[in-house]
Amino acid sequence: MLSKHIAKRFKGHNVAMNPFCGAGGNAIQLAMKYEKVIAIDIDPNKLEFAKKNAEIYGVRDKINFIMGNFFAIANDLKKYKPEVIVTSTPWGEPSYKNHKTYSLEKNMCSEYDGGGRTIFELAQSIAPNVTLHIPKSTVRNELFKLGKYFNNNIEIQNNFINGKLDSITTFLVDSIT
Ligand code: ADP
Repeated sequence: MLSKHIAKRFKGHNVAMNPFCGAGGNAIQLAMKYEKVIAIDIDPNKLEFAKKNAEIYGVRDKINFIMGNFFAIANDLKKYKPEVIVTSTPWGEPSYKNHKTYSLEKNMCSEYDGGGRTIFELAQSIAPNVTLHIPKSTVRNELFKLGKYFNNNIEIQNNFINGKLDSITTFLVDSIT
């Protein structure tokens, strides 16, 4: 549902990128709206699942699956010229649930310098529109700071499930529509 909404939000573009693609949920929804999707994951087993899932949904030929560490290959990914990056990165489960306030920088992908902030910085160097699915307790000020890379065009979408705040989707966009 969420993936569908995100894919719709950025309609009118042709090429989307989905780092940390896992079993392919987002990549498949994106492939239904876009001409081409580049999906990246570090885990070959996840990629095998994702390929099979994409086949089942009839979009395998629209997705280019790449195995690699996003932090290491980000520079190389620019050549695909995606207009949109959609990603749901590892939150550090289950420990993210223990954080009253979740810091993108300190708690997300903390094994990499700068964590979630670095993901945003790399993503914005690759594409003009970036969407990140993040925990509901994410420190809002961190998000606003990240907006400087996007002329301060940030949309923050609160995702409610059964009336309860579940998560946040941030859209960092080159223009608000
Ligand atoms: P899971 O969905 O198994 O709980 P995580 O939430 O930890 O996994 O991570 C989400 C996805 O991101 C997984 O498919 C994982 O293989 C992938 N991933 C983790 N680190 C990287 C990385 N540095 N580069 C690319 N993909 C990664």
